[in-house]
Amino acid sequence: MTRLPCTASLTSVPRLEDLVERDREHDCEGFGSHSICVKVEAVADLPTRFGRFRIVAFWNNRDEKEHIALVHGDVLGAENVVTRLHSECLTGDALGSLRCDCRDQLGVALERIAAEPCGVLLYLRQEGRGIGLLNKVRAYSLQDSGLDTVDANLALGFRDDERDYAIAAHALASLTVKSVRLLTNNPKKVAELEKHGIKVTDRIPHVIPANDHNRFYLQTKANRSGHFIDFDGKPHVPEQDDPVVVAPDAGGPSAE
Ligand SMILES: [Zn+2]
Ligand SMILES: [Zn+2]
Repeated sequence: MTRLPCTASLTSVPRLEDLVERDREHDCEGFGSHSICVKVEAVADLPTRFGRFRIVAFWNNRDEKEHIALVHGDVLGAENVVTRLHSECLTGDALGSLRCDCRDQLGVALERIAAEPCGVLLYLRQEGRGIGLLNKVRAYSLQDSGLDTVDANLALGFRDDERDYAIAAHALASLTVKSVRLLTNNPKKVAELEKHGIKVTDRIPHVIPANDHNRFYLQTKANRSGHFIDFDGKPHVPEQDDPVVVAPDAGGPSAE
């Protein structure tokens, strides 16, 4: 496990803008079992309250969602790029919901990345861990009546752990990132990225205090989904996007 700083390759690499032209005719065999291919479609400056970034918009052949990256510094050809995979959470990210800690996770990650020589945050459009906003509200409703987050998803007919990191992996490859230091509490994320050929040189814990509204949710994630969370010491949260659910099981309510 190396802890080298992010270092850009000395070989001549294009600018981010050049990736749009590079990808115009891009058509690869694809990543993962669904042969997912991603193209860089547009790049622009994006100054934020967390620091200065460039926003990179991707097209992909899989889900018709508009996934983006916020890029800080020169990541092209770089090693040990501090990287965060964040899944969209409208209620948390935009509306400030306290049922999860997505907004804090997002803000802390962006601040962390902005303080590094270079880094990437992939903002993945997987609302409600992939079940969509409507189903997320349904799941919240079930949780209001006493189910935990895993059982609520199962009761709605969704699997608890069914993720696909191919889009994220291809997006990082599109940015010509050579290796990443992944900001995450979730060991599965490291393994999944590596499965798709992304070299992960380090895992950086993403530590954020829990609040009274999300403590049970976070404990459920720790107890049932294998996150590295220590509630006896400093409480911190797993990603909201864990686990992402991409396809419903047949048959409605089910046990594991
Ligand atoms: Zn491709
Ligand atoms: Zn959330």
